[in-house]
Amino acid sequence: MTHQNRPRSSELYEEALQHIVGGVNSPSRSFKAVGGGAPVFMKRAQGAYFWDVDGNQYVDYLAAYGPIITGHAHPHVTEAITRAAQNGTLYGAPTELEIQLARMLKEAIPSMDKVRFVNSGTEAVMTTIRVARAYTNRTKIIKFAGCYHGHSDLVLVAAGSGPSTLGIPDSAGIPASIAKEVITVPFNDLDSLKLALERWGDDIAAVMVEPIVGNFGMVMPAEGFLEGLCEMTRANGSLVIYDEVISAFRFHYGSTQTFSAFPNQAAIEPDLTALGKVIGGGLPIGAYGGRKHVMEQVAPLGPAYQAGTMAGNPASISAGIACLEVLQGEGVYPRMEELAVRLTAGIEEGAKRYSIPLTINRISGAFSTHFCDHPVTNYEEAQDTNTEAFAQFFRHMLDQGFYLAPSKYEAWFLTTEHTEVDIDRTIEAAHESFRRMAK
Ligand code: PMP
Repeated sequence: MTHQNRPRSSELYEEALQHIVGGVNSPSRSFKAVGGGAPVFMKRAQGAYFWDVDGNQYVDYLAAYGPIITGHAHPHVTEAITRAAQNGTLYGAPTELEIQLARMLKEAIPSMDKVRFVNSGTEAVMTTIRVARAYTNRTKIIKFAGCYHGHSDLVLVAAGSGPSTLGIPDSAGIPASIAKEVITVPFNDLDSLKLALERWGDDIAAVMVEPIVGNFGMVMPAEGFLEGLCEMTRANGSLVIYDEVISAFRFHYGSTQTFSAFPNQAAIEPDLTALGKVIGGGLPIGAYGGRKHVMEQVAPLGPAYQAGTMAGNPASISAGIACLEVLQGEGVYPRMEELAVRLTAGIEEGAKRYSIPLTINRISGAFSTHFCDHPVTNYEEAQDTNTEAFAQFFRHMLDQGFYLAPSKYEAWFLTTEHTEVDIDRTIEAAHESFRRMAK
């Protein structure tokens, strides 16, 4: 088994600390949640692999936290970006490309009559809340514990993902006057949602949810949860907002709203949807959309203002179109699922062999590994897992050349570029990791 050294990463980390706060441009890239130390500095990436500045190679299961579903530097995506760059990267005027991507999104997600492109998932979510407030003339939102919706003020209240990983339940710098506009209830718990709606109903502009959770591991909604959520929220005159920044185009070509796991799709349609990640093919993007009468709140048609110098830039849009074109290919999703099934079965077998408690939640080609002996269906259960065991597993995998997200809350993502050989090597490394952990 390989054992990697990373002296150059350590040097660069020291240097980065001098210039970039915490040495990283997003806290989830730091190794704080897995025992600290220098993160790995990457040099280049191709397909399912990347190479660090010390020349070590890794099989990538991070996929940049989701967007890289067609692997790194996919030729079709790269060609689209190159073409866009050669034609000028930003006009500040509309293009036909934007219509093309908007059409593709609308075809795949029928609840979106109208779309608006922005630059990140954060912006998309932030704006859906503004639109919902404008539409309902109410101020409060309900969200679910552990669901992460980007870093705008309102949704950082009791947020999961990065913040919970770092043990910061609420960010500093968010005024109490804003925090009191947010009510947080447990995921998969309709009784709590009902109570919150009874208590604050007249003030609730929207209920915001990751319909399939990706931020405290992968968690499916319990049977009837989304139906109940939509029904109760609408009965209260509030809007339903789905944050599908991770879930859209991750499990199948479409969103949760059209996923075969939910046969009664009409009953789970939201009023507004926020998108990001995959729809930009690895370049910065976000989008939001919804029913025509709701979206007509947005400027220049309506009173809710939202704008963006970089929004809908031809490079991001071209990369997004190319990425979705690859994903439209025959058998793309079943193949990722098949590989994920093989991988999770192999990992589970290894954990069992070395008596390491492990719960895997897999949805299509993505899954999460929870070091515990109970199911994980909500944030509390995801927190009640062995952080130290995950950190050890992460380090052993990294040392053998397998790059997982450095947090027990993040998912493993398959891409169109992983192969059976990658999977079998990963299983072997996982067994070796468990063997070392059991010592
Ligand atoms: N919503 C969800 C569900 C996310 O997972 C994320 C990012 N992890 C965001 C919103 C924020 O997206 P971005 O990082 O592009 O701002």
